[in-house]
This record gives sequence, C-alpha cells and structure tokens, in this order.
Amino acid sequence: MIAAVAPELYRNTWAEVDLAAIGSNVRHIKRQLPSAVKLMAVVKADGYGHGALETARVAVESGADSLAVAYLSEALTLRKQGVKLPILILIPIKPQEVPMAIEYDLMLTVTSAAWFKEMRRVCGHSFYPFMLNVHVKMDTGLGRIGIRDKQQWEAMVPWLEAADIEVEGMFTHFATAGDKDTGYLHTQFLRFREMMEWANNSPVHVKTFHCANSAAALRFPEMSLDMVRIGAAMYGFGPESIKNAARLESALSLHSSLIEVKHLKKGEYVGYDLAYRTDREEWIGTVPVGYADGWSQSLRHTELIVDGQRAPIIGKIGMDQMMIRLPREYPAGTKVTLIGRNGRESVTCMELAANLGGAAQEISTSISCRVTRVYSEE
Ligand SMILES: *Cc1c(COP(=O)(O)O)cnc(C)c1O
Repeated sequence: MIAAVAPELYRNTWAEVDLAAIGSNVRHIKRQLPSAVKLMAVVKADGYGHGALETARVAVESGADSLAVAYLSEALTLRKQGVKLPILILIPIKPQEVPMAIEYDLMLTVTSAAWFKEMRRVCGHSFYPFMLNVHVKMDTGLGRIGIRDKQQWEAMVPWLEAADIEVEGMFTHFATAGDKDTGYLHTQFLRFREMMEWANNSPVHVKTFHCANSAAALRFPEMSLDMVRIGAAMYGFGPESIKNAARLESALSLHSSLIEVKHLKKGEYVGYDLAYRTDREEWIGTVPVGYADGWSQSLRHTELIVDGQRAPIIGKIGMDQMMIRLPREYPAGTKVTLIGRNGRESVTCMELAANLGGAAQEISTSISCRVTRVYSEE
C-alpha cells in the first residue's frame, strides 16, 4: 500500500488514510447503538483531516444515514463532488445564502427568530414549492450557539410553522461528553428533555431529536434519541476505554523519510537559534516535514519513529524541515513515521495532542494540504 506512493507525489512525505478502518469503526459504532438510531457522520474540517469526500463515501457504505459539516463552503464542496446524502450545516449560515442552500438541498442550523426575520426580508416571502429544511439548535449549557430559554423558542415557533419550512431536527451539543464526571452531561441531557417537551407541546412537528456526539453515544447509548452525530469515533479517536470497548482503530498515519544523515561531534549546534547542542557524538537525521505541514513548534518535545525505534526531535522545527537524533547511522531514504506504526513502535494522535493540551483531532486537522493523503481500502 505504501509502494504505490512515492513517485507521483513529488515529495517524500505522505499521510495514509485507512478507509477500511473508518468503515469498520462506523460498523462497530452502529452495533453499539439501539437499532432504530440513525447515524450522522461528521465530516467537517475535511473529515477531521482524513478527507471529507472519501470519509463520507466509506461512512455511507458502512451504514451512515447522513452527513454534517460546519460551514456552507464545506457542504457545497461535497455536493459539487457528487455527494447525494442529506447534509446538515452545523453553524448558521447568512440569511442571503439560503437560496443557495435550497438549490443544493442542504439542511440548516437555526438559532433565532431574528435570523428568520432577516432571511424573509432578503429572500422573500416563501420558497414554496421548495422546502427549507432546518434543525433548531438548543443551548443546554455549552454556552456556544443555540436557544437557551423558552421565550426564544416561542419567538421561533411562528417562523417554523411556515408552509415552506420543514423542521428536520432539534439538537444540542454537550460540553463534557468524554469526562469521567458525568454530572454536567446529565444536567444538559435533562435540560434537552425539557426543551423537547416545548417542541412536543407546540404546533411545530420536529422529525428528529439528537444530542449525542461520539463520546456521549458510546458511553450512554440511552442518549442516542433518534440520531447520533459521530465524528471522532469514526476516525478512531477517543479515550482508550471507549476505543477498546467499541473496537475502534486509528485510520491516519503520517510518514516521511530521512533526506540527510550527519555525524556531529560533541558540542556542535543543530537548528535555528542554536536551540540544540550535541552533548556527545551524535547521528542527526533531517526530516522534510515542518510547521507548514502542521508540525508546530509545540510538538518540539515529541518523538518520531525510525526503524521501530523512537527518535527525539531536536532543536527548533522549521517551516519545511526538522532534525531528529538517531540511535545510530541510517542511510538517507530510511522511512520515518510521525503518526502511526513503524515496526514495534507507534505514535498516536492522542499522544501528540497531549503535548498541546488538546484532542487527537487537533493533530489530524493540523496536517496541512501540502501533505498528500493516500488512501487504502484494506
Ligand atoms: C463536531 C461536532 C460533532 C462531532 O463530535 P465528535 O465528538 O467528534 O463525535 C457533533 N456535533 C456538533 C454540533 C459538532 O460541532
């Protein structure tokens, strides 16, 4: 699977995306959920860095029912590439962009009566016979976007009742779905239950209620309601306990090769600002990956893998290159692994993210478009 890579990239660094792993993750997640629950595959940020189109295709083949992205731009890209599935845009779009959303058959997130008012002002009275499909976003405690109180909901109702509006869903998003302490999660869930009653006691017919992301869905299947929105878990990201229980596999790896290897004496400098000085005779390898590829300076204290052994990054990371300390001499051209398995060793996005105080997906989404994604299906 790697052999096919090299020549046409014009570069000896590539990210491998194991689509079979994504497919298997989707099937395993589905198996954990009550059977009637629908699965919305979240492919925002170019599929968490794995490729939105490729991820969407495998997710659908493996049982996903719909897709979600963050922005209109991402949804349009998928439609223009021929994706036919329902797509929800998770963040409200501008009212003047609504005709485009209808033309491309996209579902919108709505959070206020003021948005509807402005939308009608710029787009006119009615889209009928076309329908505008919306999901109403509720803020149950994340404090980000959405309706917080009943008054705001009531102000929305007349707009939602219009003949050309279809309320496909009502949803919320959790702040602490992965935390050991589940107190706040349950508070948010109960608040959403109350909000569902607002809808059920109103003239608005909501087709689908949903609240769970990956962690919530896998830890508390009873929170699945009608549908779950799965991002992280589909890519094999999540706390170890969840990953093991659901048999999730990482799908992304990142590889390069040494472009130069040099032997330095004790007391010589390596890299910008003389940030590293050898403290004995050392073999130093240059890896053609830098911060413009997503390997930020904050990953300076991590390790790469060469020949199944960890090799620490030394000195500062440059825009296009970085240096590592090798356990011995290796020829130029030797494979280097930045994410994934190499012999007995492996480095995970999760481990790298710990250096940033972030989540695994912060690493995968940071790998820039300068790094070609190579896909394998088995
Ligand atoms: C990104 C996102 C998700 C997916 O969350 P994961 O934890 O990656 O599964 C779900 N819902 C909303 C609103 C999101 O923004």
